[in-house]
Amino acid sequence: MLNVTLIPCYSDNYAYLLSTPDSDEVALVDGCEAAPIVAALGGRRLAAILATHHHPDHVGGNLELREHFPAAAIYGHAAELADGQRIPGQTIGVADGEAGSILGRRFLALHVPGHTLTAVAFYFPDDGLVFTGDTMFGAGCGRLFEGTPLQLHTSLTRLAQLPPLTQVYSGHEYLARNLQFARQVEPANVAMQQREQDCLARREQGLPCEPSTIATELATSPFLRCDVSLVQAAVATRPAELQAELSPVEVFARLRRWRNSF
Ligand SMILES: [Zn+2]
Repeated sequence: MLNVTLIPCYSDNYAYLLSTPDSDEVALVDGCEAAPIVAALGGRRLAAILATHHHPDHVGGNLELREHFPAAAIYGHAAELADGQRIPGQTIGVADGEAGSILGRRFLALHVPGHTLTAVAFYFPDDGLVFTGDTMFGAGCGRLFEGTPLQLHTSLTRLAQLPPLTQVYSGHEYLARNLQFARQVEPANVAMQQREQDCLARREQGLPCEPSTIATELATSPFLRCDVSLVQAAVATRPAELQAELSPVEVFARLRRWRNSF
C-alpha cells in the first residue's frame, strides 16, 4: 500500500510524498521546492523523484534534494535525458507505457504531451493512483505551452480512460478557479455545483481539494466534456466563436482559449 502526503510548495504547487507502512524509504512526485520537502521528509531517506515535467515550479528543488540524497534516482521523460536536461539532476528516462518500480510499487509512465511536449503522468495501477502534473487539474487542464490542442485533448482523453475510481493527484491547487470557469460553461451541471460547494468549504478550512477521481473529473471538468452538446453549445455562443459543427478537439481548443482569458 502506498501512502500519499501532500506537500504545499510555493503559492499553489503540490509535491507528493510517497511512503509505505513498513519502510523509512520514501519517494516524491515533483521536487518542486527543497525546504518544505526536506521538512516533510522528517529524517526519512529519499529514494526517488518522479518528475512530471520540466517547469521550474516542479523541478526547482531537484538539485538541492540530490545534495541531501545523492543516491536518489530522478525519473523524467526519456527525451529530456537525451536532450539537454531540462529536468535538473535527471538520472532515468522513461518512455510511454514503460513500467517501473519505486518503494516496491509498480508504476506505468504515460506520455501526455500538450502542456509540455515531454509531460509524463505516473500511474500506479495496483494502488489506483495517478499523478498528472499540469496535464489534468481538478476540473481543468494545463495551458498549451508546447503542444497542440489535439495533443492535449488526446492526453486528457487517455487519462480519462483510467478506471473511474483511480485517484487523481494534480500539480496545483486550482480547483476553485477552475470550477468558477466550469460554471460559465455548464451553469446547470449539478455535479459541478456540488463540487464547487465542497471545494470552497475545504478551502475555507485551509484544506486541499486534492485528490479527485477520474469519475469526478468526467462529471465536472469541461475539458473532458468536449463531446457533450451543452459544452459544444456554450463554446459556439462565444463571441468570435460562432461556428457550427465543431469537432471535440475544436471544442477543446476554443474552451482552452476561453479559459486563458477567464
Ligand atoms: Zn507546468
